[in-house]
Amino acid sequence: PTLDELNDIKTAVSEAVTNCIVHGYRDSVGTVTMTVQLIEPATVEIMVRDQGCGIEDIDLAMQPLYTSREDLERSGMGFTIMQSFADVFRVESTPGVGTSLHMEKKLS
Ligand code: ATP
Ligand code: MG
Repeated sequence: PTLDELNDIKTAVSEAVTNCIVHGYRDSVGTVTMTVQLIEPATVEIMVRDQGCGIEDIDLAMQPLYTSREDLERSGMGFTIMQSFADVFRVESTPGVGTSLHMEKKLS
């Protein structure tokens, strides 16, 4: 990857993992699983999963500036940032079961 592509990937992964820790597991401890692979044509595919609390309303959670943790002074921009840095971005989540993110970043 170019440095720009690498920075985009780093930012998106950081936002994704932070969400698992801050929201998914909240005041508990759990496992965050990340799978990364190179796929054709020249694309990095990244999956980040937790088995935390899950998201009740994904459309609402993905809205820019929406946060469920105003008490922590979070900005509610994580999903928006991940979406803008990734070429493909999908969220699957089941309350009580966990959350799974699928991102793809094309490399030049
Ligand atoms: P910021 O990322 O700007 O610090 P934020 O984390 O609240 O703030 P987003 O990353 O956009 O903003 O997430 C929006 C909301 O989606 C969160 O406030 C939370 O309610 C929910 N959410 C995101 N990821 C998870 C997750 N892994 N498990 C449970 N809820 C999540
Ligand atoms: Mg976030």
